[in-house]
Amino acid sequence: MAGKVPRAGRTGRAGSLTLPMASSAQPRPAQARRPARGRGRPRSPKGRARLAAARLAEEYPGSARELCALDHDGPFQLLVATILSAQTTDERVNQVTPELFRAYPTPADLAAAGPDRVEELIRPTGFFRSKARSVMGMARALEDRYRGQVPGAMEDLVTLPGVGRKTANVVLSVGMGLPGLPVDTHVGRLSRRLGLTTNTDPVKVEQDLTAMLAPDEWGVFSLRMILHGRRVCLSRRPRCDDCVLNDFCPSAWTFTARPAR
Ligand code: SF4
Repeated sequence: MAGKVPRAGRTGRAGSLTLPMASSAQPRPAQARRPARGRGRPRSPKGRARLAAARLAEEYPGSARELCALDHDGPFQLLVATILSAQTTDERVNQVTPELFRAYPTPADLAAAGPDRVEELIRPTGFFRSKARSVMGMARALEDRYRGQVPGAMEDLVTLPGVGRKTANVVLSVGMGLPGLPVDTHVGRLSRRLGLTTNTDPVKVEQDLTAMLAPDEWGVFSLRMILHGRRVCLSRRPRCDDCVLNDFCPSAWTFTARPAR
């Protein structure tokens, strides 16, 4: 999803989930651990979720559309771009979609496309044969069952070829402004580190998170968690010194040494 740079001097990397910002992660200046604002450190998962949402909103401002790093214009293009983003970076997807969307601007065009040409256009994203089957099958399903429109309900979206729950949530939240909380590897990892869930199943993580946040926060919260996971709360070596959540995160400095006071 298309990257509009939050906060000056910070950069993010495009990711596989298809979500936020494309660019390379850069270290932030270290900052001292600060006390949680308000009435102290939240003790409940819901309290931590709400405080994390507020802190990350300061850190990564913008709407879901602005935070999304996949270039697109409308739900159909976002659906195609999100399918293509599997197992590759958003930058790579953004390199191929302008020509793809020029050649096939509507579901009807893509449904009628020749597979060889589509494969050629999307080849740089990898797994191009199966992705071509998915985007063309998805376009045909839109034409056959939804009059060429992207449906606005999860239960319909997940019936489309190549569309799982995560992709559907991206389209709902970013493409349509509807409630949707995509859970990728970053969202899952951060949610567990922050003590928001103990689950590893993405659907259960989604259920836990959506129970703690307002529906209009779901999409942007997911995007911000992804950005934070790519830039700060790295999988193997999280940069807790630089993390704006380090004063209430139960996992802070459990991977690295706490800074000397
Ligand atoms: S304090 Fe460390 S473990 Fe917790 S969210 Fe921040 S970077 Fe991740």
